[in-house]
Amino acid sequence: METKRLYSPKYVKEILAKYGFEFSKSLGQNFLIDGNIVRKIVEKANIGPEDYVLEIGPGIGTLTEELALKAKKVVAIELDKDLLPILDETLSQYENVEIIHGDVLKVDLKKIIEEKLDNKRVKLVANLPYYVTTPIITKLLESDLNLDSIIVMVQKEVAERMGAKAGGKEYGSLSVFVSFFSQAEIIINVPKTVFMPQPKVDSAVIKLDIKKELPDIDRDKFFKVVKAAFSKRRKTLLNALSSYGFNIDK
Ligand code: SAM
Repeated sequence: METKRLYSPKYVKEILAKYGFEFSKSLGQNFLIDGNIVRKIVEKANIGPEDYVLEIGPGIGTLTEELALKAKKVVAIELDKDLLPILDETLSQYENVEIIHGDVLKVDLKKIIEEKLDNKRVKLVANLPYYVTTPIITKLLESDLNLDSIIVMVQKEVAERMGAKAGGKEYGSLSVFVSFFSQAEIIINVPKTVFMPQPKVDSAVIKLDIKKELPDIDRDKFFKVVKAAFSKRRKTLLNALSSYGFNIDK
């Protein structure tokens, strides 16, 4: 099957002009225009013909197309309705792709996996909108979805915090949260030049291998303590916890 090379900057400009599409900064729209990065993400995600893939924010379908060429089925959730007619055109030849119009933070992901992805163990692959990275990662990890792995492009600094090991200055509540649910590893460092328009910050792709078994503890309480513990790094742990309302006898 011949692909349309959606990552070619010339093609991106042409299709956007055809539909009079304007980038929305507030929706974190920075589209990939580099075939090497697109292929590398999908290669590192290890997608094969039996895989079910969920994508967040397909944009004009650049990553979606590469995923569709490898996976059994791809479901992609896009918030911007102006991208829907474009996606209709760019992905028209792929019968294994389904686009859902919605806000990933509001839709019922469990239901989507049940109804659209045969209720199978799913790989999540995305170039995330950076303004909502942490809420998205939190929802994906907390919702007890049947995820195999999460491979996402995020701001480099956020990737470093997500993947940090205990002891370093990047290590914080996000690192503990992510490591509770998964094993994280930064797999690709990405320069600004592979996006249109170019973002101000550097990016990285991080892979979270989801743990199959989680400790049987009161998660709410655990994460509250972790958040409080890291909230005031200059204070002692006891003071940080006390100022968060934990009543501890000194
Ligand atoms: N995947 C495309 C690519 O790599 O070229 C686009 C990535 S762009 C960084 C992020 C995409 O997420 C945009 O298409 C944007 O409209 C979409 N988006 C932003 N907020 C969203 C949300 N809350 N739910 C779903 N999609 C969202």
